[in-house]
Amino acid sequence: MNEVKEQVGLEDARIFGPMSEFDHEQVMLCNDKSTGLKAIIAIHNTILGPGLGGTRFYNYKSENDALNDVLRLSRGMTYKAAISGLNLGGAKAVIIGDPHKLKSEGLFRRFGRFIENLNGKYITAEDVGTTTRDMEYISMETKHVVGLPEIKGGGGDPSPVTAYGVFMGMKASAKFVYGSDSLKGKTVAVQGIGKVGWHLVEYLNKEGAKIYVSDIHEDRLKQAASEFDAIAVSGADLFDLNIDILAPCAMGAILNTDTIGRLKCAIVAGAANNQLEHEEIHGPLIKDKGITYVPDFLINAGGLINVYSEHTGYNREIAMGDAEKIYDTTLLILKKAYNENIHTQKAAIMLAEQRILQMKNVRATI
Ligand code: NAD
Repeated sequence: MNEVKEQVGLEDARIFGPMSEFDHEQVMLCNDKSTGLKAIIAIHNTILGPGLGGTRFYNYKSENDALNDVLRLSRGMTYKAAISGLNLGGAKAVIIGDPHKLKSEGLFRRFGRFIENLNGKYITAEDVGTTTRDMEYISMETKHVVGLPEIKGGGGDPSPVTAYGVFMGMKASAKFVYGSDSLKGKTVAVQGIGKVGWHLVEYLNKEGAKIYVSDIHEDRLKQAASEFDAIAVSGADLFDLNIDILAPCAMGAILNTDTIGRLKCAIVAGAANNQLEHEEIHGPLIKDKGITYVPDFLINAGGLINVYSEHTGYNREIAMGDAEKIYDTTLLILKKAYNENIHTQKAAIMLAEQRILQMKNVRATI
């Protein structure tokens, strides 16, 4: 193997090195001078089904940053789909450049042509920097796109389904920690009262939890505090609260050495993606602190469940029913982590990998 590497100079390769690290199947580079399109589509694993993952439009500092992001995100989609019991693989796309300057009908339709060339191996959707309108342009060139507006047969905004899944995962973690899944009287702090956070606070309010809210948008914060009789907390003070549950619903890397050191809660269960700054370091650290962390890619899978439902003929009730299953999966993972004395993120990845392997074997036999 090393000999082959030396012969073709793969040791220096910027693409095959990172691709091999996480065992990606395929990376497609898309270039179109006339529209300014520069995109990377990364297909991580399609054993369970076509790779589904959104298209991120972002002004990356370098091509390397874009490649690393798309490889990392597509791998995460594989685990998210697998742990949620969906027949989907993991993939993701990034378009490089400033979306405010570059967006055009031509660019998205050209990108749609590239997706069409993959013959359904990759299904795209909205992500940071793209909207349902952009998906409509893509859909003019390929049917392999989800996240269309309701009026066009799509599932619309997935946030209510995501929030419901987070609520289910939170209740399951309460059952595991306290012996009851009722959140009545429990103190819950929600960071980020955006699309998901707002719906989550609605559920918590109905359930009778005592709610703390935090958001960098003052107006949103005041609105949530008054509407739900919640206590507004500013900035990083959130991490010092004496509470039962913290629900990060804003940005990633929120669980790091500093914040974990400060936390006084029993459970972390929220929608934000990539909450652990470094999985290998902060997964064990939060476990050793005695805090039950519900893996993000499991608890926030409602959004993926929603677009999956769109792919198979959209029905909001079915999507909500599937999101409810996050309750049972959360319990399964928390028990596995406890029994095997491993951190919860690791337990979730092991179960996801187990399902992929099982289905690989199923398909290998007639
Ligand atoms: P959003 O942009 O609607 O809301 C995010 C909110 O967080 C905003 O109100 C913003 O002001 C606030 N915020 C940003 N930085 C903050 C900080 N430092 N402290 C407090 N508040 C801060 O986003 P969303 O759709 O609600 O998604 C929330 C998180 O959940 C994101 O990490 C997203 O990737 C993840 N997620 C969302 C979905 C979905 O269906 N929308 C699905 C899966 C994962």
